[in-house]
Amino acid sequence: MNDKELMALSSENIMNTYKRFPIVLVKGEGPKVWDINGREYLDFVAGIAVCNLGHCHPQVVAALKKQAEELFHVSNLYYIETQIKLAKLLTDNSFADKAFFCNSGAEANEAAIKLARKYAHENLGADKFELITMKDSFHGRTMATITATGQEKFQFGFTPLLDGFKYVPFNDLQALESAISVKTCGIMLEPVQGEGGVIIPDDRYLAKVREICDRHDILLIVDEVQTGIGRTGRLFAYEHSGIEPDIMTLAKALGNGFPVGAMLAKDEIAKAFTPGNHASTFGGNPLAMAAGYAAVSAILQEGVLDNCRKMGEYFLTQLKKLQGKYRIINAVRGKGLMLACALDIEGADIVNECMKRGLLINCTGGKTLRFVPPLVINRNDIDRAIGILDNVLEGR
Ligand SMILES: *Cc1c(COP(=O)(O)O)cnc(C)c1O
Repeated sequence: MNDKELMALSSENIMNTYKRFPIVLVKGEGPKVWDINGREYLDFVAGIAVCNLGHCHPQVVAALKKQAEELFHVSNLYYIETQIKLAKLLTDNSFADKAFFCNSGAEANEAAIKLARKYAHENLGADKFELITMKDSFHGRTMATITATGQEKFQFGFTPLLDGFKYVPFNDLQALESAISVKTCGIMLEPVQGEGGVIIPDDRYLAKVREICDRHDILLIVDEVQTGIGRTGRLFAYEHSGIEPDIMTLAKALGNGFPVGAMLAKDEIAKAFTPGNHASTFGGNPLAMAAGYAAVSAILQEGVLDNCRKMGEYFLTQLKKLQGKYRIINAVRGKGLMLACALDIEGADIVNECMKRGLLINCTGGKTLRFVPPLVINRNDIDRAIGILDNVLEGR
């Protein structure tokens, strides 16, 4: 079947929940992907911050092949070797003592919300259940996580939402402090807002939020589904602020493309979950855990984080040059290889034009171009992307 036939078949058989670009991608290697007609693209979307090691990373491919020949799946009624190994790798390299595995970011955040409530219920009283989250945040598409997401466009048409959520502007400590009540059990936020447009808070913000949490005896939950696994130049973005959260959620890049999610916590908090409180059939399955272990090990071993920081700085410098050249660019910002270019105009046309020239990028909130390339890109890749973007902007 050719691409036109596949697209027709897609609209006949698949629910209309995504606005898709008219290409069918069939192959990937490192920062490149190819469509069904053999056209090559530089992929600065990377599955939306998923393929941090690039497509089909050899170590992840090998781990999956090996595991597929040994054991795909067994229930969590039994001990799972690869799960234990990934849990140890994550706890050895983070603030956390314990992990719970699931299959997606939304599920990880569901688990975090449940753990925060359970911890508060057990330790602080049943009337302490409220979570404060941020405006323009994004936490997923389940009922609890669209409630946690501080953007009406994701909630519209799906009411009634869950009880017990309050929203405050990101990076506003005063608003946060005034939103706290006797009912508050936790604050949940992204260290850098992703879907909200790559919004980076002030340097001291997270540390101050930590102080507020300590003062009021509330939990700090960081949603690192997008920022985690090296994206911002550290394994986890909270590390930039010198503080430790109480709970952290991961997904996207955790399996470098294999679906894996995780919720991690300090022991004292994790203890609130006992057998029967939470579960997932596929969560932590041998195949997913093999991918996760290979991916996280590769990120830690191969100078990937260092490359991410260096390339992030270089990319930002090049974007700033473009900003100097084009008045429609309002702002450029980034942390590691999570970058954005805020425009005066709708970004959709620019994204389409870039695609036609062989560069995949995406757009958040209508006017912000987002760049989340694999962390293994080099200067040439960045120069090529900037060249295409320059070309597209010039043509306007
Ligand atoms: C993508 C994302 C989610 C949702 O993850 P899914 O795997 O799509 O459920 C949650 N939080 C953040 C910060 C994200 O970027």
